[in-house]
Amino acid sequence: MQRRSRPGGLLDSAAPASPPAPEQIRNLRQAGGASFGRSRPERPHVQDRLDVERWINEGGHVAPEAVIQREMAAEDDRPGGAAGQHSRAAQSAEVRSSPAAAAESTSSSPQHPARARVLIAGGGVAGLETLLALRSLAADRLEITIVAPELKFVNAAMSVDQPFKPQRVRGLRLEDAAAEFAAHWHRGALDRVEPEQHLIVTKDGDELPYDRLVLALGAHPEHEWQFPGVLTYHGGRDGPNYRLLLHQLREGEVSRVAFVKPAGASWPLPLYDLALMTAAECAAHDRAGVELTLITPEPEPLAIFGTTASAAVRRLLHDNRVTLYTASYGVLSRRGWLAISPGERAIQVDRVVTEPRLVGPRLRGVACDHDGFIPTDAHGRLAGLDGVFAAGDATAFPIKHGGLAAQQADAVAEAIAASVGANIDPQPFRPILRGVLLTGGPPRYLRADISDNADDDSVISQRPLWWPPDKISGRYLAPYLSSQVGDATDVMPQGEAVTPVETALEQVAADTPRRFGELSDLPPR
Ligand SMILES: Cc1cc2nc3c(=O)[nH]c(=O)nc-3n(C[C@H](O)[C@H](O)[C@H](O)COP(=O)(O)OP(=O)(O)OC[C@H]3O[C@@H](n4cnc5c(N)ncnc54)[C@H](O)[C@@H]3O)c2cc1C
Repeated sequence: MQRRSRPGGLLDSAAPASPPAPEQIRNLRQAGGASFGRSRPERPHVQDRLDVERWINEGGHVAPEAVIQREMAAEDDRPGGAAGQHSRAAQSAEVRSSPAAAAESTSSSPQHPARARVLIAGGGVAGLETLLALRSLAADRLEITIVAPELKFVNAAMSVDQPFKPQRVRGLRLEDAAAEFAAHWHRGALDRVEPEQHLIVTKDGDELPYDRLVLALGAHPEHEWQFPGVLTYHGGRDGPNYRLLLHQLREGEVSRVAFVKPAGASWPLPLYDLALMTAAECAAHDRAGVELTLITPEPEPLAIFGTTASAAVRRLLHDNRVTLYTASYGVLSRRGWLAISPGERAIQVDRVVTEPRLVGPRLRGVACDHDGFIPTDAHGRLAGLDGVFAAGDATAFPIKHGGLAAQQADAVAEAIAASVGANIDPQPFRPILRGVLLTGGPPRYLRADISDNADDDSVISQRPLWWPPDKISGRYLAPYLSSQVGDATDVMPQGEAVTPVETALEQVAADTPRRFGELSDLPPR
């Protein structure tokens, strides 16, 4: 990793006047970087650690000196002392002083044969699933670094539940997750890929070399309606505004809400979750006069989940008094009116709830389609870029969904594991849609095989169709996140329907010897 330029601001007040000497960085790295399974080297001089930690830790977000001192003191008190594996693992992404040095350096050591360096860009669903899958499939053959701008993974899928319940979700610290799976963590945002040099460059100017690169950058919200009275739901940060809307509905200050799905790429489920949970909330508060409408370009509600699921969702909306317009677009016209296109229709509204239209990351150095998404083959490889893969919402696959992002990540991890000699026959991405629809009552579990030659095998059930029955149905990620409940992030709907399958859980646990188990589709009952 090389820092080309140093940001001002944060660094100016607390960082050393110039970047630490390569000697200092080397000392720190030797103290614990990439040291899994090695004997513990000498502790570096404390000032080196101070300077270097301040410089590289958190990707340029510099902690005040007092904080660093306190953390180091606490760390030194722990068994294992200053070279404790945890924070060392997180800090030890390879540091480079020049491209030439980068080219010369390898990840081998006398203790370790060369291990392929895998960079995972993105700490969301696809990024974490790639990490877990790689650790499961090719544990000792890889040196993995995860690069992401944020400190925590927060499960966006369950964020629709946030406005309806009091507790805050804390999220899962990426540094901890990386350390748990013996990976490095580098806080930063990818600026570009330099494929000839097998490097990525972050927005802070850091260079990180790779042998395999996984782009798991997610999608970006595009242009949105900027009108008063329109709430675009991106995730938990919109929870407080939605909570206010619920309050206004309860108090009778708002009576007409339209849920409008945008044209183009968007997440399939959130507006349905919100509409149904809002309907249940209104019913619970005797607000029978409230008018809720859902307007969607889909030919049927949640059509991608197949005919059986769509028909059941249509009934569910009807039973909960949500008026449905399919094959339609909502267009804000006069104040207080929403035109429904096509046709000469309009409805009166007090509020509009929508979700962002999604576009791709449009990353420099990587070809993309007209919406900025990254085309891949069925194993997640990018054409013409050696060792570069992509998974998740950032790819050109048209359905943006966490469960599918995780399945793409599994295909990528298998391809990478096979490429470094793991005994595995890498399977292509074969999309199986699994979705949990929150209703304010028992959740509905939806499943459909949407791969090329599959028939319509759409299923909808009040009982879980997979285990653990999380909204994010990642093969490795769902069991792992479920093991974090209470501590990190909430992952599955808490309803009566979940309890009766405890026996199935025991069975699944018994059948899956891996540490956190794998997602399992439950056998027919
Ligand atoms: C409200 C809501 C409800 C949803 N409901 C469901 C549901 O019920 N079921 C379901 O399966 N899915 C659901 N989804 C969709 C699901 O969350 C996404 O499909 C999934 O998160 C995609 O995973 P990803 O890894 O591709 O992207 P993300 O999870 O968005 O992760 C992208 C990562 O890349 C990082 N990143 C971005 N730019 C850069 C950069 N330049 N450099 C480095 N890192 C970068 C981000 O910080 C983040 O860590 C929902 C989403 C929302 C918002």
